[in-house]
Amino acid sequence: MEKKLYSRRKFLKMSAFGLGGLIVTERTYDFFKESTVEGKIVIVGGGAAGITMAAYLVDKLRNPDITIIEPNEIHHYQPGYTMIAGGVFKPDEILKPNKDLIPRGVTWLKDKVMELNPDNNSLETENSGKVNYDYLVLVPGCQLNYNLIEGIDPNRLGEGNVHSIYTHEGSKKCYEALKKMPDLKNGNFVFTDTYTKLKCGGAPKKICLMAENYLRDHDAREDKSFSYYANGTKLQTPKIHGDRLVEIYNERNVEIHYKHRLVSVDTSQQKAVFELLPEETQAATPTDANYEKIEVPFDFLHIVPPMSAPDFVKNSPLTITEGSLRHDGWVDSNEFTLIHNRYPNIISFGDVAGLPTSKTGAAIRIQAPVAAANLVSLMEGKEPKKSYNGYSACPIVTEYGKVLMVEFVYGEKVKPYSYTKKVKPTIPFLDPAMERSMWWILKKHGLKPMYYQGMLKGLM
Ligand SMILES: Cc1cc2nc3c(=O)[nH]c(=O)nc-3n(C[C@H](O)[C@H](O)[C@H](O)COP(=O)(O)OP(=O)(O)OC[C@H]3O[C@@H](n4cnc5c(N)ncnc54)[C@H](O)[C@@H]3O)c2cc1C
Repeated sequence: MEKKLYSRRKFLKMSAFGLGGLIVTERTYDFFKESTVEGKIVIVGGGAAGITMAAYLVDKLRNPDITIIEPNEIHHYQPGYTMIAGGVFKPDEILKPNKDLIPRGVTWLKDKVMELNPDNNSLETENSGKVNYDYLVLVPGCQLNYNLIEGIDPNRLGEGNVHSIYTHEGSKKCYEALKKMPDLKNGNFVFTDTYTKLKCGGAPKKICLMAENYLRDHDAREDKSFSYYANGTKLQTPKIHGDRLVEIYNERNVEIHYKHRLVSVDTSQQKAVFELLPEETQAATPTDANYEKIEVPFDFLHIVPPMSAPDFVKNSPLTITEGSLRHDGWVDSNEFTLIHNRYPNIISFGDVAGLPTSKTGAAIRIQAPVAAANLVSLMEGKEPKKSYNGYSACPIVTEYGKVLMVEFVYGEKVKPYSYTKKVKPTIPFLDPAMERSMWWILKKHGLKPMYYQGMLKGLM
């Protein structure tokens, strides 16, 4: 039954697209909407997850009462940051006004949430005071904690040639630096990641390989050394992709150092200090113990900020309270239904959720329709029917023109909030551990339009 309605909905949308809405009017379209259930839905965060969720809900509810709380005017297509840093995308081509993306029929409250009160079904905003809800969709993404690296001020990225592509400004400055790299003599290029869960864990590896490739293309690689300092014991999971990536790093003469955590940076002296982590130290555990430290001089340093849920989530009763993820305030969502484990009228996914998968837009593409269907079931007083399979993906740019496509779903449950990753290629007959030009074409030309025209409109 559900399948039939779904394809009819798709057919109607496509008809509306193709014929400019001449044949299928909105009234006819409304008639086919799936549920007549009512209730006030508040979505916190109008990023990739928030807008996609709103689009699916508008589609499913005949009388939607949906408010998105989002403070920013401009939406960023964040996967484009890497491409800006590499000089492939122009900085402005990944920005769009939220007013053009938030679906029709959804109220936009341009404000910032300061406090969550899930026991009272309400939240506090910075300027509009208290907002009540019947159902809460909590999707405010990650908070970037650059301040946890001593000596780093996120507003002064670029100074001392210290870069980070995790912000729009940062990615622009990185490209400006990249263009000057060929002129540098005997440069020491240092790249690192972070110890917390992070969005797009592939991004620091991509910028490392793109920078290396840029120098080779400009006949300026010979006198430079490249090294990557990883917090963990692997460069990438699943193993099949990690093994190939290590081979690529070896082929390209990029040294890999495992179990190194960046603790401070002296931008004026261009020196980074790393803590050497004992083998048993878990990622995601803050350390202030007196582990041995080493000083690494650099001419170019790329850093990743430690990440957490935003403070207002971290300070709420909604977070994971056990295991290694308890430090960073990730939301305690069920890994399959995406419904909060203790508050059944709250659904949370995307970067803020403590799901045992990787934080990517690709994951949100699969999570949002599950979350929307389950929310409607909850509103109708039914059991949630849809289940998320843990799908996430990361197109790792290995050089200009090639991408290693990493795709996986949940494998075995290892412990609470932790699963192994099972390789799940979209095209099963292609060797997933091989970097390919077709994935580069997809990354460069396909994924951005698919994001704006497909995912954010709830069409894929
Ligand atoms: C450098 C980089 C490269 C990436 N590459 C890829 C890639 O190749 N493929 C891929 O799939 N993904 C990639 N990603 C990851 C992807 O962009 C994220 O996973 C995705 O944007 C997360 O969506 P989200 O909605 O959870 O969070 P976001 O998109 O970050 O949105 C969160 C929203 O919540 C709002 N918000 C925050 N605090 C509040 C508050 N207090 N009140 C109200 N609203 C608030 C924010 O303003 C924001 O609009 C990359 C990310 C980066 C940074």
